[in-house]
Amino acid sequence: MKKIAIFPGSFDPFTKGHEDIVLRGLELFDEILIAIGHNSKKNVRYFPVEKMVAYIEKAFEGNDRVTVRLYNELTADLARKKDARFLLRGLRNTTDFEYENSISQVNKYLNEDLESVFLITSPEYAAISSTIIREVHKYGGDVTPFLPYQLD
Ligand code: ADP
Repeated sequence: MKKIAIFPGSFDPFTKGHEDIVLRGLELFDEILIAIGHNSKKNVRYFPVEKMVAYIEKAFEGNDRVTVRLYNELTADLARKKDARFLLRGLRNTTDFEYENSISQVNKYLNEDLESVFLITSPEYAAISSTIIREVHKYGGDVTPFLPYQLD
């Protein structure tokens, strides 16, 4: 049975920290589905979501074990539909831990076949956050060193 993991997130934007989690996850899983949670009526994003899908696809071009999609439902339900038994998430600090701890309990309650797997961030990416990248970009700073693709 194939080991399929979902890597869910907002990815606004997808960063080198996220890429690192996916690349390391590929050592553990056969396939990784990067799933961008998005509700066009409720979510206001900084980077347009369709563009982000294209950027991420570009970052993993040639790697047929990685796919990208949008979703607007419970992650636990998406996992069931995609035969994914694993949820991949990254941990940078205790704040991430507190949050991830709660959502993993809820996901387990919603889908008991689903196991959450956490990878500790690599030190060189520990300070990268989508929120900070949005701020830097908004005021004209160069964010290319933090992204695994070129913005157009
Ligand atoms: P969410 O809004 O669901 O928290 P994010 O797009 O912010 O989504 O993050 C998705 C996942 O990636 C989360 O598990 C988050 O902790 C992790 N993550 C974010 N930045 C990094 C990083 N620099 N290194 C490792 N993991 C990260």
